[in-house]
Amino acid sequence: MSITEGEVDDAIFAELHPPLPKQDAIVEANRCLFCFDAPCTQACPTHIDVPRFIKKITTGNLRGSALTILDSNILGASCSRVCPVEVLCEGACVMHRYNKKPIEIGLLQRHAMDHFYDAGAKLPVPALRPGLARVACIGGGPASLACAAELRMRGFDVTVFEAREWPGGLNTHGVAEYKLRAPDSLREVKFIESLGVEVKTGMRIGEIFQLEDLEREFGAIFIGSGLGPTEKMNIPGEDLHGVLDAVSYIGYYKLTRTGPIGRRVVVIGGGNTAIDAAIAAKMLGSGEVYMVYRRGEPEMPAFNFEYEHAKKMGINFLWQTAPVAIHGAENGYVKGLECVRTRMGEPDATGRSTPENAEGTNFQIPCDFVIVALGQSKLTKLLADKNIEFASGCVKTTGRSGQTTNPKYFAGGDCVSGGREVVDAVAEGKRAGVGIAKYLENRNG
Ligand SMILES: Cc1cc2nc3c(=O)[nH]c(=O)nc-3n(C[C@H](O)[C@H](O)[C@H](O)COP(=O)(O)OP(=O)(O)OC[C@H]3O[C@@H](n4cnc5c(N)ncnc54)[C@H](O)[C@@H]3O)c2cc1C
Repeated sequence: MSITEGEVDDAIFAELHPPLPKQDAIVEANRCLFCFDAPCTQACPTHIDVPRFIKKITTGNLRGSALTILDSNILGASCSRVCPVEVLCEGACVMHRYNKKPIEIGLLQRHAMDHFYDAGAKLPVPALRPGLARVACIGGGPASLACAAELRMRGFDVTVFEAREWPGGLNTHGVAEYKLRAPDSLREVKFIESLGVEVKTGMRIGEIFQLEDLEREFGAIFIGSGLGPTEKMNIPGEDLHGVLDAVSYIGYYKLTRTGPIGRRVVVIGGGNTAIDAAIAAKMLGSGEVYMVYRRGEPEMPAFNFEYEHAKKMGINFLWQTAPVAIHGAENGYVKGLECVRTRMGEPDATGRSTPENAEGTNFQIPCDFVIVALGQSKLTKLLADKNIEFASGCVKTTGRSGQTTNPKYFAGGDCVSGGREVVDAVAEGKRAGVGIAKYLENRNG
């Protein structure tokens, strides 16, 4: 068996939710009941005024509609593509009560945001307010971008420091191509730069620039550094050629438009990232794709609609199965994955059972490519010795504003939550922006 390179074919990687044609958008917008208590708005972590932006679509005021969205969520364009709307706004739509299809809020949001970007994505930029301290945001992902935009719109001078060559965080490097293309993520970053936010890439804080350097120059620091590399499995064979972690795999094919394909691929994990990697492997041209998960189908953490998508794509699932070793051929390439069957142990205090390996049930899956999707590690090293407390490896915040136990530092996004959705990172980034503004204004006043 051998790995070859497959290219991203735009037809095969067609968007999962293509845009609504103009007429369809108007018809769909007119289906909305414009509920006064708007459960959709409550279900959205950024609390976009959904009835209001949809109403504006019915009158053809697409810019006004986009401005309503941007008021709550500056990353409204990417969120319209990547949000798990089935469990957020659309999941809360009252149409469910009448056994009717929920309003396609995600697609309507995209309709308004696409119009805004097609028209040049212009917003009036407020002048910098003199005498205010500058703010640094660590990380160029959704949390930092939302925080930076909020502060800039309040007249603060903000700089985003991003370690990688390209900004946008997981929107650019992690979210599946068929949901959000890298150029669309980068277009959104350009928009935020057009508001006057400075985005410096290739700047990993903790390497050339230290936190002490930032502390000297900036009045407050927002930590939006997300999570670290994928967790290791700590089994033999992890360093063989043909073993890759899911986030690197997705980031690689998104930015290079090409990626390794195997004749038989095994993805290890049962979350949304594992599903994204398995589907990408299939779309790039791999033969059989298997997902190996150590618990059963009911315990799988991936969203149901992601699981259904994977089944439609022909992904095979091996439940109650755990990897124990990756075997290589003489040339150093993967030739198979050794697994063992698992059974669920006694439930712990939280009611969750841990799977246990069942002795003597080992078996081999011949394969040439293994993708590891076990969740990302926590990035705590950078913040050591800063009087910043952690809870289970995540940055601890003391209130809604995202302030940490060191008052000069605020935080939001995956580094606080341990990994949620883009819209959560945006909501936390914006709230921290408000909190930082208050902190600096009070200090000045
Ligand atoms: C494979 C995958 C698929 C996903 N798919 C979806 C999806 O479909 N829908 C959805 O809503 N969510 C999805 N998510 C989750 C979502 O991407 C994250 O919740 C969101 O991006 C978190 O934003 P963030 O800004 O906290 O972190 P990130 O997006 O991770 O951004 C953090 C940034 O900080 C940078 N950084 C780290 N350390 C430093 C440092 N020391 N100095 C400077 N910069 C630094 C990193 O390079 C990175 O760019 C997915 C996640 C993964 C892993």
